[in-house]
Amino acid sequence: MIGAGAIGLGTAWHLTKRGHYVSVYDPRLNAPVQRQGSANDLSGTSASLGVLMGHVFRRSSGRGWRLRRRSMELWPQWIETLQVHQPDLKLHLGLLQIPEDERTAERMASLAAQRVDLGLEIVSKEALNKVWPTASHGGLHSRHDGRVDPLLLQLALRQALAGQSVDLNAEAVVHLERNNNQWSVHRADGESTIHDVVVLSTALTTDALLEPLGHARAMTPVLGQALSLQLTTGPTSWTHWPSVLVDQGFNLIPTSPGRLLLGATVEPGDCASADPLILMRSLNERAPAWLRTATVVSHWSGLRARPVDRPAPLLEELEPGLILASGHYRNGVLLAPATAEWVAAALEQP
Ligand SMILES: Cc1cc2nc3c(=O)[nH]c(=O)nc-3n(C[C@H](O)[C@H](O)[C@H](O)COP(=O)(O)OP(=O)(O)OC[C@H]3O[C@@H](n4cnc5c(N)ncnc54)[C@H](O)[C@@H]3O)c2cc1C
Repeated sequence: MIGAGAIGLGTAWHLTKRGHYVSVYDPRLNAPVQRQGSANDLSGTSASLGVLMGHVFRRSSGRGWRLRRRSMELWPQWIETLQVHQPDLKLHLGLLQIPEDERTAERMASLAAQRVDLGLEIVSKEALNKVWPTASHGGLHSRHDGRVDPLLLQLALRQALAGQSVDLNAEAVVHLERNNNQWSVHRADGESTIHDVVVLSTALTTDALLEPLGHARAMTPVLGQALSLQLTTGPTSWTHWPSVLVDQGFNLIPTSPGRLLLGATVEPGDCASADPLILMRSLNERAPAWLRTATVVSHWSGLRARPVDRPAPLLEELEPGLILASGHYRNGVLLAPATAEWVAAALEQP
């Protein structure tokens, strides 16, 4: 397993539980799981907010929908098992999407009508008055979507892997080489090891390992930014709030009394804007006064790996024993369980 973000760690854990002998390579395995540093210092997973937008997906067919549904089925089991390692790791349920206009509200109403059994329902604007008074078209509530804390998730997965005697190597892989039916994995420290199968979950650096093997899979960075905010006025508790509120693509996540996270995918490229408050200001017309006056406790940004000219994520067996599970772009945390299952199926196929 090369790469130890949500995808690499989750897949390694799943494969180990299925009886495979797994080695994991990632220089970040030496570093604490935290959110300090610039976009280039943080892995996508550490930068992420861990929002699980599974059932509110617009499409009702295709690979994207299947992966989302399967992940949402698997998340409760994943959390229950991983809580042994991190008791505070929870599935925070409830996600509310605010439509921008009448047309979006109608589309959401039709989705809710089709997915009553999946926990979707329309909430009236009157009912949202206390939570988000600018929701003039009401909202779409998803009971089983929500959020996991991506830092606790990584800690739990690392501990689970260490407890299962998985070979954890805090080393970058610099080169892959096919040797008959096996793979030589060349590391940055000059050592090499031999493996039957290589799984790549290396986000933006995937192409550097694949290109010499004749498989071009370019990825482009898309910057995401997030703020942790302390309210100075406004709600002191989040009693009527869901775990996640989504308005115009911005995620608002209450974390403790008077505190919340605010995040969004903002700019193509890999360079964060100098002023983190731009994020908040772009919510302006819809943001309640208490959000605009909140103070910034911390700010971070991270890079999402978006596949060029191919739909995300990239789940492919490129040649025998060379599996790609990367380029998750927006939903790598959400899709970690279904991705792990896909890799196991690819690896175990007769
Ligand atoms: C601000 C922000 C908010 C986000 N919010 C959400 C959200 O709410 N919900 C959601 O589902 N997704 C969200 N995402 C997207 C999500 O973070 C990614 O889809 C996900 O993290 C991808 O996981 P990954 O394991 O593929 O990549 P990463 O977490 O980036 O991990 C890749 C790992 O590979 C390692 N690596 C790279 N090259 C090598 C090499 N040569 N050798 C060894 N190791 C290597 C890196 O060190 C890294 O640790 C967000 C992203 C950002 C930036």
